[in-house]
Amino acid sequence: MEIRDSITKVNLLTGHLSGEQITVTEKTLGAMRAIFEDQTAASKMDPDTVICHIEIRVAVPDGTEGGLFFATSFLMPGKVGNEFFMTKGHFHEKREAAEYYWGISGKGLLLLMDESGTCSAEKVEKGTLHYIGGNIAHRLINTGSEVLAVGACWPSDAGHNYEEITKKGFSVRVFERDGEIYIKTVRT
Ligand code: MN
Repeated sequence: MEIRDSITKVNLLTGHLSGEQITVTEKTLGAMRAIFEDQTAASKMDPDTVICHIEIRVAVPDGTEGGLFFATSFLMPGKVGNEFFMTKGHFHEKREAAEYYWGISGKGLLLLMDESGTCSAEKVEKGTLHYIGGNIAHRLINTGSEVLAVGACWPSDAGHNYEEITKKGFSVRVFERDGEIYIKTVRT
């Protein structure tokens, strides 16, 4: 039997991935602008502003049944107007597919929404573990002043459905108001 070195490493302090099979993607404000409420404020910001940097170990091709993806997302601190930087958010294409998230560093919220539009949120920080059940849309929000690093593991055939969220959005938005987190219901 051969004993091999692992082809990929995960830095357990920072979440950064290195080695083989790593894909890096960056989401800029320009590509995500529509998700923010204050379009005037968004239009005044540099569209090249990086909102989210993602490192994924793509061990199998996208869509592989029975496989797993593993990633760390680095969500930058910042706001558009008074609304905190956030990820686009998505349901899975394969609706029943679940996912694990875990907090690595920074402070934020995991916003969850079921198919009826009912939202809940979990605080995310170093060491928190989040089970995202099937049929639940999920979005990360950086409510802190540092990068929010969050690990994730999900089925490689789950897919991402951004369309529904782009069209309808989440039913709440998260702002800063007087130095506090303020949750605003935008539809019921
Ligand atoms: Mn997901």
